[in-house]
Amino acid sequence: MSALNELDPVETRLRDGLFARQATLEQELADLVAIPTGMGHADGLETTRAMLVERLQAIGATTSLATGDERPDWLLGGWSNQTPPPTATCTHPGNGPRILLAAHLDTVHDPESDFDALRHEADGISRGPGAADMKGGVLVVMAALEALAEAGVDVNWTVLLTSDEETGSFCSERHLAEAARSADVGLVVEPALPDGSLVVERMGSGQFMIRVEGRSAHVGREFERGISAVKTLAEVIIEVLALADPEAGRIVNIGPIEGGQATNAVPDHAACWGNVRFKDPDSQGVLEAAFDALEQRWSHDDSGTPHPEGHLPRVHFERTFNRPAKPMTPAVEQLALAARRAAESLGQSLPFAKTGGVCDGNVLQSAGLPTIDTLGVRGGNLHREDEYVELGSLSERAALLAVLIKRIASGAESIGV
Ligand SMILES: [Zn+2]
Repeated sequence: MSALNELDPVETRLRDGLFARQATLEQELADLVAIPTGMGHADGLETTRAMLVERLQAIGATTSLATGDERPDWLLGGWSNQTPPPTATCTHPGNGPRILLAAHLDTVHDPESDFDALRHEADGISRGPGAADMKGGVLVVMAALEALAEAGVDVNWTVLLTSDEETGSFCSERHLAEAARSADVGLVVEPALPDGSLVVERMGSGQFMIRVEGRSAHVGREFERGISAVKTLAEVIIEVLALADPEAGRIVNIGPIEGGQATNAVPDHAACWGNVRFKDPDSQGVLEAAFDALEQRWSHDDSGTPHPEGHLPRVHFERTFNRPAKPMTPAVEQLALAARRAAESLGQSLPFAKTGGVCDGNVLQSAGLPTIDTLGVRGGNLHREDEYVELGSLSERAALLAVLIKRIASGAESIGV
């Protein structure tokens, strides 16, 4: 086995080829960014998907398109009435470990906004919707796989292109988990942290909604007949927020809330939406048990008898804790260290970091696949109208990904397989 702290001749060719493509990558990024893919924009997603699938087929992939699952209808997110977007799976046969690369095509950006193109700023920085999160990352995958194909490296890869990561991956989650179960290593091209760090640990995340039914009444004429849904919701909110314990790795946030229609009517409905974060399965379990206990208590009287049909106020709880925490397991550490060795052999550094943010890496790893997930470009101000990408990181990170994949594929780096 050659020393992994330096590049072998094939790796050197991969690097040189990718650095020579820098100008092309910049143009390709401008093309991708100019296609709106935010907020379920079906046309933009389809155009982008077709473009990428065609490129992957040109290097030997076969493609299947799986219908997206419906999102729970109580979720916020603004596009629940649309057809769930499909997930494209592009597979290339090979002999080594099965490498799964996951990328999302959607962004958070409004297709109607003026923030609609890649605009050069200064010093190798450009701004544009999705430039870092994660159109830059998508190109890193394309460029790395094309370079590997050109170099004749035998790689068993699958690329999963999803279209709803920014709204919780409800349509693609099942496909992500299925793909994870038939792979050995997961690589996701979310943007690196601004300093280039690789995230090796992530909290988990869950969504919930609480809805209360009360009884309306005129405030002046029959106030006593009313049952205020807002009052009950306020009580429930206090209880739910009290479940937060950031020190213990449990975060609870509520907002937005809504309730009532006029100040002179007792409100007969109120609702709130919220998000929880948890550091590990135990903290997730604590939160789930606490939500169960609250739901039980609000649906029963003090003696433990269920409220009869029609009892008011009535409190409805909905929740889905669909992104489990992503801890640094031994296999993840092996993979992260392999990525660091690849980076160092390219003269790059790759510090490790933790975050409370979630991504499809959480879903892949919870399905049993060791995954690292911030192999995309360097950039920042994600989800804002000044999102930026460091253009030079397109070829740098493509070289990193190509060298890492080549080493895993050839067995030079073995990741628990
Ligand atoms: Zn992302």
